[in-house]
Amino acid sequence: MDAIALDPRLRYAGEFLGRQAGLLIDGKLLPAASGKTFPVYNPATGTVIANVPEADKADVDRAVAAARLAFEDGRWRKIGPSGRGKLLWKLADLMERDLEELAELESIDNGKPYAVARAADLPLAVDMFRYMAGWATKITGSTLPLSLPGEYLSYTVREPIGVVGQIIPWNFPLLMAAWKLAPALAAGCTVVLKAAEQTPMTALRLAELVLEAGFPAGVVNILTGFGETAGAALAAHPDVDKIAFTGSTEVGKLIVQAAAGNLKKVSLELGGKSPAIILADADLDVAIPGAASGIFFNHGQACCAGSRLFAHKSVYDRVVGGISDIAGNIKVGPGLDPATEMGPLVSDEQFTRVTGYIEDGRQSGAHVAVGGNRVGNLGYFVAPTVLENTTSDMKVVQDEIFGPVLVAQPFDDDDLERIAKQANDTIYGLAASVWTRNGGIAHKLASRIRSGTVWINCHNVFDASLPFGGYKQSGWGREMGEEVLHNYTEVKAVTAAL
Ligand code: ADP
Repeated sequence: MDAIALDPRLRYAGEFLGRQAGLLIDGKLLPAASGKTFPVYNPATGTVIANVPEADKADVDRAVAAARLAFEDGRWRKIGPSGRGKLLWKLADLMERDLEELAELESIDNGKPYAVARAADLPLAVDMFRYMAGWATKITGSTLPLSLPGEYLSYTVREPIGVVGQIIPWNFPLLMAAWKLAPALAAGCTVVLKAAEQTPMTALRLAELVLEAGFPAGVVNILTGFGETAGAALAAHPDVDKIAFTGSTEVGKLIVQAAAGNLKKVSLELGGKSPAIILADADLDVAIPGAASGIFFNHGQACCAGSRLFAHKSVYDRVVGGISDIAGNIKVGPGLDPATEMGPLVSDEQFTRVTGYIEDGRQSGAHVAVGGNRVGNLGYFVAPTVLENTTSDMKVVQDEIFGPVLVAQPFDDDDLERIAKQANDTIYGLAASVWTRNGGIAHKLASRIRSGTVWINCHNVFDASLPFGGYKQSGWGREMGEEVLHNYTEVKAVTAAL
């Protein structure tokens, strides 16, 4: 095991980090079957904060067997919709009780500022459980009038899909766990969730809260381990009915292949390269800070980050100048420093990837308006960066960078079809924002943009009620809202000849 070095600024999470966390399998906290652990790093320093169980195929098999038994033997079904809702609400209460601890774990594990985790990730995660607690009692079918001769009674019911495997990323670790667990449990499924190897800490603490809330054994199973081993075993498992994945488009395609063995149902929330379109009449006092936060929130490590800026040529210089000023003044530092506005990237790998893209942009002719460099020489800090002189054929414009890097392009056009065509010119279709004072134009553009979310005069607005997901290669299905329940239910049509 690697030696642990904890940040002396930790106030709430030291106790949890000081003890050995366990995988949640069949209602028990357990070591990996192999006994193996892996180190978890603080991205602000590169030092080890914990050693956590390294689940692999054997643990996936144990967890899936537990989830199958809990689904089939009636222990979860008998609790009923209202009972499921109560448990979800209880879990939300426990998360709220431990808000500071969970926010601190998120900060030291992922790198994001503690204040951001406390103000954004945690309340959204808690609310997701409460919102879905309400849905547990409202998952209904309908009665259907048939046109056949004779008399029939036909109705549909929505039934839980069964045993669900869920694989989540590292950018919003606890929130992604909430987006996945809450609707699946509300629908009556049993779950095996695998956290991202870069950020396992809040999932492991959540496992303890699941036990404390009193979920029956086997209903929720939580694993920490690597994608190529534990993740791949879960995606391919013949006794998993459905796999729900959030992560890169590249891995999403591997999930689809792995799922083909038993044709398990698949939902995918994948990458994006979302445009922020600022029209000539936009209120720049709103649009400039809005577009800046659209890309720099969570250090650009958000699948819906507004990473491609299109500004009308009449306002382009002011917009790029304004966003660059904001970027240049963002205080970059460790997440646990109260003065920090942007933390480190999550990992060494991500640091190398993002700085590699910035270099590639430079090589292909982009001009660095601000940033473009590493900050300090310890940890994985990258300065908020704006690249100008970019063209749509450049890799920095087409690829998802997943870091604090904005590519800017002016447009000299009032034709909405052409603006939309440019905005739609990637393989992705996750989100977009439109900035204008003209409501008619905003909604016309919204109708022409091919993405699952369009924000008007705002970016990165989330609510448990809003369905979220992608067109094109940004994914299959939707997270959140009533819509997500389709991911976790099967529809049965029942017809009786009367
Ligand atoms: P990123 O590239 O941003 O790290 P990934 O898409 O690689 O995102 O990872 C998202 C999640 O998918 C993580 O939990 C990771 O462990 C998991 N994962 C990675 N590779 C595989 C795979 N081949 N099969 C299943 N899960 C995987």
